[in-house]
Amino acid sequence: MKTLRIDLHIHSVLSPCGELEMSPANIISEAQVRGLDIIAITDHNSTRQAGVIREMGKQIGIKVLYGAEVTTREDVHVLCLFQNKELAGEFQVYLDEHLPDIKNKEHVFGFQVAVDAEEHIIHNEKRLLLSAIDQSIEDVETKVHSLGGLFIPAHVDRQAYGLYAQLGIMPQGLKVDALEFSYNTKDNVLKRKYPESADHVLLTSSDAHRVNDIGRAVTLIKAKKPTFRELKKALRNEKGRHVIGFEYEDEQVGFQV
Ligand SMILES: [Zn+2]
Ligand SMILES: [Zn+2]
Repeated sequence: MKTLRIDLHIHSVLSPCGELEMSPANIISEAQVRGLDIIAITDHNSTRQAGVIREMGKQIGIKVLYGAEVTTREDVHVLCLFQNKELAGEFQVYLDEHLPDIKNKEHVFGFQVAVDAEEHIIHNEKRLLLSAIDQSIEDVETKVHSLGGLFIPAHVDRQAYGLYAQLGIMPQGLKVDALEFSYNTKDNVLKRKYPESADHVLLTSSDAHRVNDIGRAVTLIKAKKPTFRELKKALRNEKGRHVIGFEYEDEQVGFQV
């Protein structure tokens, strides 16, 4: 069994708010510098940039998961992660079906392009990815789990788009695989403020929109190897796999388990 360093919340150039420097090559090289074993590409309401980065990660032994940070109808951000291209592709169909037809204004919100390894544009998203999709948090949870994915409400401590701020409490019956708290908070602070959160597995991640922020908060897990299946087992505390703790770039902010 190994200790693996994971950062499951990274935006690429495809997110309108993601810096243009968030190219596949830059994301992978920074992930390598930071010693990350598993990362997830989680652009707003789109999985379209993950495939290229996953292929590049393979070359150097970094597992890149397909993901998206979905904005639900209630304005809650949720990380949705998938095991492979086909399942992410099915989820992309769902996102395309439920993203409202509101045009992106590039000069206001930023560019929304997916690029290949050489940074040629392979997709230019015309609809604004920052919009909420027309599906409830329960709808999204059901869809993600029907595809064998992981459903993780993002930065639950945050006022903007955090589950607790938006909904007050965890909806009854909602099946979450973990809760993510922000890079600049502490898990003990979260548990004090929202005691209910202690009933769940907790993760922290960088929510990086620029290269330097990748890995600024990392979750450590005990698992056999860096794969989606092993991550799933760690989140379920199965067969010795589990979340060990958290590590922060800034020790002053951080809390070491
Ligand atoms: Zn968010
Ligand atoms: Zn984000």
